[in-house]
Amino acid sequence: ASGEHVPVLVIGTGYGGSVAALRLAQAGVDVHMIEMGMAWDTPGSDGKIFCSTLNPDQRSYWLRTKTKQPLNYFLGFPIDRDISRYTGILDAEEFSGITVYQGRGVGGGSLVNGGMAVTPKRENFSFVLPSVNPDEMYDTYYPRANAGLGVGLIDSAWFESASAYQYSRVGRKHAGRSGFPWGFVPNVYDWDYMKQEQAGTATKSALAGEILYGNNYGKKSLQKTYIAQAKATGRVTISPLHRVTSVAPAAGGGYTVSIDQLNTNGDVTNVKTVLADRVFFAAGSVGTSKLLVKLKATGVLPLLNDEVGKGWGDNGNVMCGRANWLWDPTGSLQSTIPCSGIDNWTAGGAFAEVAPLPVGIETFASFYLSITKNPNRAQFSWNAATGKVDLNWQTAWKQPGIDMAKTIFDKINAKEGTIYRTDLFGVYKIWGDHLTYHPLGGAVLNKATDNYGRLAGYPGLYVIDGSLIPGNTSVNPFVTITALAERNIEKIIATDL
Ligand code: FAD
Repeated sequence: ASGEHVPVLVIGTGYGGSVAALRLAQAGVDVHMIEMGMAWDTPGSDGKIFCSTLNPDQRSYWLRTKTKQPLNYFLGFPIDRDISRYTGILDAEEFSGITVYQGRGVGGGSLVNGGMAVTPKRENFSFVLPSVNPDEMYDTYYPRANAGLGVGLIDSAWFESASAYQYSRVGRKHAGRSGFPWGFVPNVYDWDYMKQEQAGTATKSALAGEILYGNNYGKKSLQKTYIAQAKATGRVTISPLHRVTSVAPAAGGGYTVSIDQLNTNGDVTNVKTVLADRVFFAAGSVGTSKLLVKLKATGVLPLLNDEVGKGWGDNGNVMCGRANWLWDPTGSLQSTIPCSGIDNWTAGGAFAEVAPLPVGIETFASFYLSITKNPNRAQFSWNAATGKVDLNWQTAWKQPGIDMAKTIFDKINAKEGTIYRTDLFGVYKIWGDHLTYHPLGGAVLNKATDNYGRLAGYPGLYVIDGSLIPGNTSVNPFVTITALAERNIEKIIATDL
């Protein structure tokens, strides 16, 4: 309620926010979480909470009247369709040179992501988080994060026979013949449930095209793990459809947090203020960076340092497809949950997940999302004329990432006598270089904050999400975001409360 006083307010309910809420609540602190997206706990008229990629409706996109599918062409034809404006689950947020996909709702990115739960190789950790001691991460916080998230591996014997992973087996064959290491990648999907989907004994979810707009059954999103545990403490309150607009020092100490209440059309229906002793920024790399850059530039938090808004990266994301020969079908039934990857990080700067193309028909295509060591970093800045925060990333900055991905796929194409697909991202366009799923940075650890996420200049303000990570994790990011949050919150509980 407006005028309330809370000990801790958390902005956002993704990985960082959920870890903070659970651990603070377990330490006896009452926590209020503010989430701009919906609760996603009520079925629609079709009996399902989430819609599938095969039939996107208003639930799919955040405040759009047309879908903006990451893979926006098929056989050279645009496939986006009209939808009604609604506070849907996936935000395709457009900056001048890149579209940044993010989850909206209680659970943040865990609602929409592929569930790939990858711990970086230890030898790469100093590149990922140079100011963090690897021993404590690999001995304590990565194991804690993997346990908290419910990470598991596919049954390798079942994998060999599952028709829904034909695409992954083709990926293995092609990687192997070109001499690249291929391996299973852990996931938070309930693998026993997927076996039942494949056997026809459970309602299909991963095998029914559910992923980008939510997953109705098998995926262990944060709603089923950290957030469920946090709620069970009785100390955590969550306000969905509430968006934080300002955090300002209060006269008597603590911070005044301004909050817009939204309806499902995205209109502001109510404006509230809450007094909080401590505030955790967990709005994701883009959400946290936008808030901090605006609050510094407009004089609300002038003591924030000049690192705020800097060090943003796309985790080197680039997508591409390859056209296979007719004797290499990838399957008309494809699990939306990827289970394998090709590793050429050390030699070529690329780690490629063998991704599904779950369109329901045989495509003879192999599809990949590559994470590359693209060195380019962008910066957020306040635009007083528009009253918005800009990001100076340019589409051309993807080129190093494309070159790194080509170290894998040029070689595979040469070996197999195949070519790239040119019909998935436009008319005669090979590379999906207009987007990222993995925004990272903008309030980098040990730069914009101290080495545990405390913001410079303002005791009681913390950053605890992907904006702490300087732009790249060498693999999919959420396990590292979770593990870093576990590390930082333990220190903050021990020393600041
Ligand atoms: P988020 O999870 O983004 O949470 C931030 C939350 O804050 C959101 O719920 C947002 O709505 C809310 N918020 C923002 N601003 C405000 C505000 N002003 N007021 C109130 N609330 C606010 N990663 C992997 O590791 N493996 C994968 O397989 C994978 N696949 C992906 C697939 C897709 C399509 C996408 C989009 C992402 C994928 N990711 C994957 C990335 C992963 O989901 C993100 O890295 C992760 O969710 C970031 O965690 P976070 O805690 O930083 O923020």
